[in-house]
Amino acid sequence: TESCLKAIDAAGALNAFVTKTPEIALDRAKAADARIAAGDAPAMCGLPIGVKDVFCTKGVTSQAASGILEGFKPEYESTVTQQLQDAGAVMLGKLNMDEFAMGSSNENSTYGAAISPWKRAGDDTNLTPGGSSGGSAAAVAADLCLAATGTDTGGSIRQPAAFTGTVGIKPTYGRCSRWGVVSYASSLDQAGPMTKSVRDAAIMLEAMCGHDAKDSTSADLAVPNFEAMLTGDIKGKKIGIPKEYRLDGMPEDIAKLWDDGTAMLKAAGAEIVDISLPHTKYALPAYYVIAPAEASSNLARYDGVRYGQRATLSAGDGITEMYEKTRAAGFGAEVQRRIMVGTYVLSAGFYDAYYNRARRVRSLIKKDFEDAFAAGIDAILAPTTPSAAFGLGEMKDADPVKMYLNDVFTVTLNLAGLPGVAVPTGVDAQGLPLGLQLIGKPWEEGDLLNTAYALE
Ligand code: GLN
Repeated sequence: TESCLKAIDAAGALNAFVTKTPEIALDRAKAADARIAAGDAPAMCGLPIGVKDVFCTKGVTSQAASGILEGFKPEYESTVTQQLQDAGAVMLGKLNMDEFAMGSSNENSTYGAAISPWKRAGDDTNLTPGGSSGGSAAAVAADLCLAATGTDTGGSIRQPAAFTGTVGIKPTYGRCSRWGVVSYASSLDQAGPMTKSVRDAAIMLEAMCGHDAKDSTSADLAVPNFEAMLTGDIKGKKIGIPKEYRLDGMPEDIAKLWDDGTAMLKAAGAEIVDISLPHTKYALPAYYVIAPAEASSNLARYDGVRYGQRATLSAGDGITEMYEKTRAAGFGAEVQRRIMVGTYVLSAGFYDAYYNRARRVRSLIKKDFEDAFAAGIDAILAPTTPSAAFGLGEMKDADPVKMYLNDVFTVTLNLAGLPGVAVPTGVDAQGLPLGLQLIGKPWEEGDLLNTAYALE
């Protein structure tokens, strides 16, 4: 814990940790030492971790990197972080992210962008660690902590993992409690671990998940010992290669990475099967209707009364001015854009044309996956991202849709509620990490991690 705290101070330029909690960390580390000495050490006893700012942590600033929650110190602890604490993990502090988890580069943060510890060969440009869990990815990749929590609504665990050469798993929807996690799009949000290895991900996921009566969408299912399932034996497993993910103009190094990963699984005894997920191309537009719709509803609570830092008002201002000034000052540009899109697609005149249509598309995407699994496929292999990490500013200043295109391979499984794990499997011509993604059947994270283990 002490060496991590030192590393965090030395790596301030990465802007990964936005709140440091050294006193809490040292107290918990001491308690962990005592438990180890007493021979009662739980799975993560004494392991120093970082926590994404979207998790409410009791008495510790939890802003989801938004200006509107400035100085918010919850009176309660999220279920996931409480479980990690119970498993002995030591929180070092809170990690940078895109505001309310909306983004793919961590540039939409009230704290400023997090920066990747990676550089392109011979080029000093600061690169994004990805988003929205950019602080988590940068911190794990730069060895500021052993692991971190992330959340994934449309790729925010897997894309930053791919950009930083780390491992991240988005569990099945309902595996981890959402209680105490600031909501973005409630039907898509899931917490998960970001780690240095598949084994670490298995250990940490087990500590994070489980039934929680405080979240009505949390699944009442036993939590397996995921680590024990890492045998590396994938003989006879059927791995699907979805042709719709082979996009026109896919960079050569991504195509090669995918082919190499396929060959690796085959060499390990898996059967490779070409499959079709015909509605894939509609996933991104459907996601960018559904996620903003849910966000606009979730963010209505930040009104300067129930939640949110109230803006300074002028004499004569009424309730409307209070809402307007508070929300205009507190929310960043991307969040405001999503609220507008979400409100529009839910409005009486456009509900059927956009929101309802997107929901129907969502069912078809889910069915594509169900059909593949019903035909005997055990897991699906695809790239995680369409490129390696990009430079700060390279995408953000362009049209926002360009940024959204980063999520083309990741949003599909959130719409279907399925688990997905991102594993680093190679580097591009400039030495930057690249990763592949495995998509699994609902509740079969153990099997999925085992396949990822064979690929690692
Ligand atoms: N990049 C996607 C978005 O901006 C996904 C974010 C996430 O998974 N939280 O919505």
